Amino acid sequence: MKKLIVANWKLNPSTLKDAIKLSSSIKKTKKNTVVLCPPIIYLSNVKYPNLGAQDCFWEEKGAFTGQVSPLQLKSLKVKYCIVGHSERRTVGESDDQINDKVKLLLENQIIPILCVGYGTTVEQDDLEVVDVLKSQLETDLRDVDTSKVIVAYEPVWAISTGDPYATKKVATPDHTEKIAIFIKTKFGINKVLYGGSANLNNAQGFLEQPNIDGLLVGGASLVPNQFNEMINL
Ligand code: PEP
Repeated sequence: MKKLIVANWKLNPSTLKDAIKLSSSIKKTKKNTVVLCPPIIYLSNVKYPNLGAQDCFWEEKGAFTGQVSPLQLKSLKVKYCIVGHSERRTVGESDDQINDKVKLLLENQIIPILCVGYGTTVEQDDLEVVDVLKSQLETDLRDVDTSKVIVAYEPVWAISTGDPYATKKVATPDHTEKIAIFIKTKFGINKVLYGGSANLNNAQGFLEQPNIDGLLVGGASLVPNQFNEMINL
């Protein structure tokens, strides 16, 4: 069964030339489905079979300085869009706004990759994490056909640490598998990804879980040798 591996480049690289170089160093593979999410400014120049955006706005057009709409992303043939990333939630994005983004993306036939896990802590057990996720998902997915949404479980404390097992307590494949089952059964989601310092050393452990359908990869997706191996696991 193919898994979905999504590369979130965040605010990297610094030039268009380097973005084109990075994208062309990522091999095409039949083993898994791979989506590259470069910064929006590079989207029309980066060539790859599946492209995603890292965020979007919740209105289609109008007086919204600096924003990019799902309608505009559709015109660039963007197939996926990350929403609700912890790095957006941390600057004040609310679940109601995320819900509006999810709805507008679906209206424009773009698949939302909805990130949840902001607000979780390393000390929480499975049940407490489920409480946080439930409250996010209930609002993020209000009035949405959930079968069309991909959810990425990203415990916020595991992002960009370099090692999701460093603190050992929560982001293990076993824990993530349980969370994925909860998200699927409670919310009718078909695909759940894991995100948080996924790399070549730990990816296999997550990918072999039956209910973890892939990975959202930040830092490791900027290292072509490593990422090329990850997408072929
Ligand atoms: C992310 O940006 O969603 C992410 C998981 O980053 P990293 O892999 O660097 O932790």
